[in-house]
Amino acid sequence: MARRRETAVTRPGEPVRMAAAGRVCGQVAGPEWCERDVLARGLCRPHYRRAAKGLPLDPDGGRLVGVTPSGHGVWGVLEEREDRLRCHECGGWYVALGVHVGMVHDGAHAYRLAHGLLMSTSLNAGPLRERLSQAARATADRLPPPPPQSDLARERAERGVRLRRRPG
Ligand SMILES: [Zn+2]
Ligand SMILES: [Zn+2]
Repeated sequence: MARRRETAVTRPGEPVRMAAAGRVCGQVAGPEWCERDVLARGLCRPHYRRAAKGLPLDPDGGRLVGVTPSGHGVWGVLEEREDRLRCHECGGWYVALGVHVGMVHDGAHAYRLAHGLLMSTSLNAGPLRERLSQAARATADRLPPPPPQSDLARERAERGVRLRRRPG
């Protein structure tokens, strides 16, 4: 039998690992840190997945969202005033902060990582964000509906085997 990779998650045909009752992720990683049930190796499902992907377990690195200062702002928070967003890096106010960050700083991805913002957080201020999401919705309405998912694909999605893994 081939040796399993350390980062392997449940494979097709394997029993799905159940969360161990009565244990919390935080018992291993530190109190008041994560209270979800343990899935494997002392970690809950989201933290186990982060570990499997080689990501740090605490995406905030010990910083507190909305509390810890980060550049000209606060960790994990986009300051918005008069339809403009404040740049953590230089303190300026911009309607299209993503464009500014891409031109002047190291780009939106690095900016989000450096200041604790979710990758799903828009870097556009209010009215622009609204207009863009309306345009995206209008485009989606014009597209044909996606083909129905097969039973197998749905089952795989539920079991999480579609998690992206590194090749090799
Ligand atoms: Zn956890
Ligand atoms: Zn800036």
